[in-house]
Amino acid sequence: MPTLLAKNATVLVTMDDGRRELADGGLFARDGIIEQVGPTSTLPSTADRVLDLSGQIVLPGFVNTHHHLDQTLTRNIPAAQDNNLFPWLKVHYRVWASRTPEGSRTSTLVGLAELAASGCTTVFDHAYVFKNGCRVDDQIAAAKEIGVRFHACRGSMSLGESKGGLPPDDCVEEEQAILKDCVRVIDAHHDAKRGAMTRVVLGPCSPFSVSTELLKESAKLARAYKVSLHTHLCETMDEERYTLERYQLRPVAWMATLDWMGSDVWFAHAIHVDDEEIREMARTGVGAAHCPCSNMRLASGIAPIKQYLAAGVKVGLGVDGSASNDASNILLEARQALLLARLRIGLLPPAGPRKYFLLSQSDPLRASEWMTAREVLEIATRGGAAVLGRDDIGSLAPGKCADFFSIDLNTVDYAGALHDPVAATVFCAPQKARYTVINGRVVVENGKVTTVDMGPVVEQHNRLAAKYAGTK
Ligand SMILES: [Zn+2]
Repeated sequence: MPTLLAKNATVLVTMDDGRRELADGGLFARDGIIEQVGPTSTLPSTADRVLDLSGQIVLPGFVNTHHHLDQTLTRNIPAAQDNNLFPWLKVHYRVWASRTPEGSRTSTLVGLAELAASGCTTVFDHAYVFKNGCRVDDQIAAAKEIGVRFHACRGSMSLGESKGGLPPDDCVEEEQAILKDCVRVIDAHHDAKRGAMTRVVLGPCSPFSVSTELLKESAKLARAYKVSLHTHLCETMDEERYTLERYQLRPVAWMATLDWMGSDVWFAHAIHVDDEEIREMARTGVGAAHCPCSNMRLASGIAPIKQYLAAGVKVGLGVDGSASNDASNILLEARQALLLARLRIGLLPPAGPRKYFLLSQSDPLRASEWMTAREVLEIATRGGAAVLGRDDIGSLAPGKCADFFSIDLNTVDYAGALHDPVAATVFCAPQKARYTVINGRVVVENGKVTTVDMGPVVEQHNRLAAKYAGTK
């Protein structure tokens, strides 16, 4: 039962029910679970591992609710730099299908290392192309190597071009084989217990890459095994046109006919929704993974995050795959979420009589639309935990998982902003974590992963990625 004492933090952000921010804070954990949180003077004086966090801010570990780790192999591909979703996907499908288990391992390690160094401690990964012997087990094994809490999606694509889908026929799988493998992966890896390091999610990829039958059968299977469901939805206007033409329904209404509205479901992006659809997501408990960088990179649109929060929809952050973000930095994503919510205010006129320049919080018509730094930190922590269906992560309190990260405050990047160090983590430039602790174990120290020697991994990753970019 190893113990951990983290002490002397300049400020410790608990995100507990009272949203306390503790001066000279710390915590004591045993076997990966927090036993005490409070001022350092109230904690035990020693432990098996002691971290002195003087001059640092501590935050609960961030939760990433949407990623495709394999895509770190296809960052910045020239042919896909300037496309929106459908043509961008068409550039990538066969490239992704050609990766090998070795590529899955290196890309998962690279993506998780970058995430952990930016303060992320729990990652959901949506893998959905399985060819050349690749299995979701590749990602799960790599996550265990590095020590990140991991929700692995056995995703799927079954609707090829010949059946009216977007992906080429040679990139999709047979539906019976998909469902059989979903059961195998759940049996082999899903851990429903509190404090679990590995969970399994079922994730048919998107409306234009799977059949209605596979969506229905996946939902039945997920309910039978009590695992969560995830897909891309309402990401682009092209997708909306697709479901309107093929099924005569908007995406959310179509999913409702397939038993896909429930508290065990969350959608990636969820940009193009109307007020009624927002209310329906809130009523049924569906969550949203907000991916601002990807949404800007692909010109997909701006998700109505403040409207979701006001309606009671669960919202988490997602960095999305590295073919549409190119970074797996969750602190950067938090900053972009704040900035994008504010850009949205500037683009949309006030609801009442139009008054130019009155966009600030002092205008009662606009006040509720402003995203604050603490709100975005809450989305990144408690929000993500709720989206993934977990009550044991997302805050620092007794009984919660010992998942947190710290950032040095006395740096040039924060100089002049320390009157509010909590807001500085969002407003100032995103920093690397001094420490990232997951399940009571130090995974990052001084901005670098300590559990895996990343030098050879990056070398191998670059060799594999060069092939995909067409440079070798
Ligand atoms: Zn995605």
